[in-house]
Amino acid sequence: MILDDIRVVLVNTSHSGNIGSAARAMKTMGLSKLYLVDPACEIDSHASALSAGASDVLGNAVIVEKLEDAIADCALTIGTSARSRTLSWPMVEPRECGEKLVAEAENGPVALVFGRENSGLTNEELQLCNYHVCIPANPEYSSLNLAMAVQTLSYETRMAFLNKQPKQEAQDDTVYPNSKQTELFYDHLEETLYNTGFIIKQHPGIVMTKLRRLFNRARPEEAEMNILRGILTSINKSIPK
Ligand code: SAH
Repeated sequence: MILDDIRVVLVNTSHSGNIGSAARAMKTMGLSKLYLVDPACEIDSHASALSAGASDVLGNAVIVEKLEDAIADCALTIGTSARSRTLSWPMVEPRECGEKLVAEAENGPVALVFGRENSGLTNEELQLCNYHVCIPANPEYSSLNLAMAVQTLSYETRMAFLNKQPKQEAQDDTVYPNSKQTELFYDHLEETLYNTGFIIKQHPGIVMTKLRRLFNRARPEEAEMNILRGILTSINKSIPK
């Protein structure tokens, strides 16, 4: 399963609530492999509370000492960064990040790495990554809460995953009237508008053209056109002869 091979790595996190929220964010998007590099907090009741129904993701989290240990078996590692740094590195957009993770997870584990709440990832850590991804947020306030960054990039990963699934052809069993039925409707409408005096036979103008355009755009279904025909019949019946 592709999503099982995409791991989320949190480096040196200080708030246990963020770890819980990140676990929840992951699970809502179908991700389950959480790695914690040298967490600076306990996985306490606060983490469990914020993980809500994702305590399994939290419970299965793998704790390691260094980032190298979390990504040793990964052929692709993408690091996150809230701003472009002095370090220039191949960058990907969040969408492409999701697509790359999903494409390469077919061959084995891949990792998405998140940094510390206050200082992000170090340059050494960023240099362990193949690409960097930056969520293009408000340039004047671009740093998302850690778990929200996890949510955003997990969402993109899920979208890439869903786009790869064979699509079920949406079955459209709507029945539309054929051209003959449509022309009969326009005849009926025109005749009714003569009968009510809305159109004057000698000066028909472009009303019928405009009405045709309206109904062609709306594209009534066969059953809806039958209702319209019924309305026209009732109008004709009520006009004194
Ligand atoms: N002051 C830190 C911000 C850290 S925010 C810095 O400049 O890097 C904590 C973590 O959330 C970041 O390390 C990153 O993993 C993630 N994050 C926050 N905002 C982000 C953004 N706009 N794009 C990508 N990741 C982001």
